[in-house]
Amino acid sequence: MKKKTIVVVGGVAGGMSFANRYRRLNIDDEIIVFEKGPFVSFANCGLPYHISGEIKSRQSLLVVKEELLQKRFNLNVRSNSEVISINPEQKKIQYRSNQEIFEQSYDELVISTGAKPIVPTIEGLDLIPFFTLRNIPDLDKIMLQIKNHHPKHVSILGAGFIGLELAENLKMRGIEVALIEKSRDVLPVLDPEVSIHAKIALIQNGIDVYTNNEIIKIEPNTLYLKSGQEVKTDFLIISIGVAPDTTLLKNIGANLGMKGGIIVDYNYQISIPHIYAVGDAIIVKNQISNQDTLIPLASPANRQGRQLADILSGLNVYNKGSIGTSIVKVFDMSFASTGLTEKQLTKGTYHVIHLLANDHASYYPGATSIHLKVIFDKVSHQILGAQAFGQKGVDKRIDIISTAIKAKLTITDLQELEFTYAPPYSSAKDIVNLAGYVGQNIILGISQSVQWYDVEMLKNEGYLFIDVRSFIEREGFGYIEGSMHIDIDELYLRYQEIPKDKKLVVYCQSGTRSYNAERFLRAKGFEVYNLDGSYSVYDQISKEIK
Ligand SMILES: Cc1cc2nc3c(=O)[nH]c(=O)nc-3n(C[C@H](O)[C@H](O)[C@H](O)COP(=O)(O)OP(=O)(O)OC[C@H]3O[C@@H](n4cnc5c(N)ncnc54)[C@H](O)[C@@H]3O)c2cc1C
Repeated sequence: MKKKTIVVVGGVAGGMSFANRYRRLNIDDEIIVFEKGPFVSFANCGLPYHISGEIKSRQSLLVVKEELLQKRFNLNVRSNSEVISINPEQKKIQYRSNQEIFEQSYDELVISTGAKPIVPTIEGLDLIPFFTLRNIPDLDKIMLQIKNHHPKHVSILGAGFIGLELAENLKMRGIEVALIEKSRDVLPVLDPEVSIHAKIALIQNGIDVYTNNEIIKIEPNTLYLKSGQEVKTDFLIISIGVAPDTTLLKNIGANLGMKGGIIVDYNYQISIPHIYAVGDAIIVKNQISNQDTLIPLASPANRQGRQLADILSGLNVYNKGSIGTSIVKVFDMSFASTGLTEKQLTKGTYHVIHLLANDHASYYPGATSIHLKVIFDKVSHQILGAQAFGQKGVDKRIDIISTAIKAKLTITDLQELEFTYAPPYSSAKDIVNLAGYVGQNIILGISQSVQWYDVEMLKNEGYLFIDVRSFIEREGFGYIEGSMHIDIDELYLRYQEIPKDKKLVVYCQSGTRSYNAERFLRAKGFEVYNLDGSYSVYDQISKEIK
């Protein structure tokens, strides 16, 4: 068979994953990887952690060296070589290396050019040193600025994953940090009752958080915010999100979609023959909603690269889309999510469950809380998404639920999952099993719940809220204004004090005791609902939105 020439543009996650897999399946073909930066296969995800010194050596961010790729995999890797145009008719690309322009022909062309940081227009932006973080040269610039100017204060614009990682790592380096975010919430991709805890973690660790805010003007060392506040700062890092890096394809009239993302088919082929694309640059189908979306994450990029290699090698593999599963460390807390959030769904079509449990048996030392939110479809009962936060075990629970979503399990199937259990690791009823039990209760009508965002409306409609926690908890944690207090352990004796004509909402700290109260009061003839997640969910978010 004729030897093919495969040209890859972009030598990091998707591109290198493609190149290595393709090589294993096609020993003789020529594979040429063009990378405009100085390094291929570097660890983009590790970049923020070098700022604090958590990842000590810059060298360890260079995961695989170019020489190894050449020797072991016979890849023709060309760093510092930017592909500047494509000629699809002649199946050629032009690239620039050492200020000279060259041409290279291809049989198949693979684009994995990633996504570039968005830089907004702000009056006076040129008056302050500002940076973005995408690659090692960007990191080097930030490190040099720190080394040469010993900043006391740095501001970060944008409180997404990278913004939060930067905030933590700068702070750990001893630099004061202001974090400025346009949305009401940090981590705005999550639902607000979850992301509020990331904001709390940031504030508790000394980050100045300015949400619902924007920089409207910059003067040397001063940021002027929409709120009227002024932030004195030494430099600025912009991390307000990324956009697919697709100018090359725009120039040849390829079909592009949202934010310039590349439209690909089931074989990752773009609208032009012999050109394929993977990674952050492409639009993917969300496997749950079937909607087009952008999911700029490392795991999908790596998978897509490998799958494209399989497809071009004749294997029966196709682009199934992604569900979006992510995690971020915020000091000693982790925030993770998979699938869809409530923000992405239409009210009334789904049920929500909030749970609070320990990462392992409470009697074994060192147990910490996990807060888990699971969303499932009202009709099919399929799991639509989950979010969790806590100090330990958050990744495990979200990974399990992400697997369950991909396997199209329903909420009640979570009861059946069997996990490793011994007291140091988990509980005999893991929080993921609990989600299955609670889901079953909701589906069968054994429990009827309302959400934290229903509270004000229900109060206005005359519902009576009953707090079934202990007096000490009520006084210590606070309570829902106007709620009646009857300790769960006194309910059997005191339930007749509750007006019979009122509809009731019961709550405790996590939703478990109030579920018992709900069952009891319903049996006694009351119309009663359980406040899902109870006071632990309602508390912080209700203060935030006041
Ligand atoms: C600071 C940071 C932290 C991150 N942390 C995480 C994380 O914790 N978890 C996670 O899932 N994801 C994380 N990501 C995202 C993850 O790195 C990306 O999703 C993934 O790298 C995308 O792979 P890709 O191949 O599409 O693009 P990239 O890995 O970005 O590679 C694209 C490459 O193409 C090159 N290129 C572009 N145009 C040309 C051209 N014309 N010619 C030649 N070369 C070109 C670029 O220089 C770039 O090196 C992080 C990203 C950053 C920047």
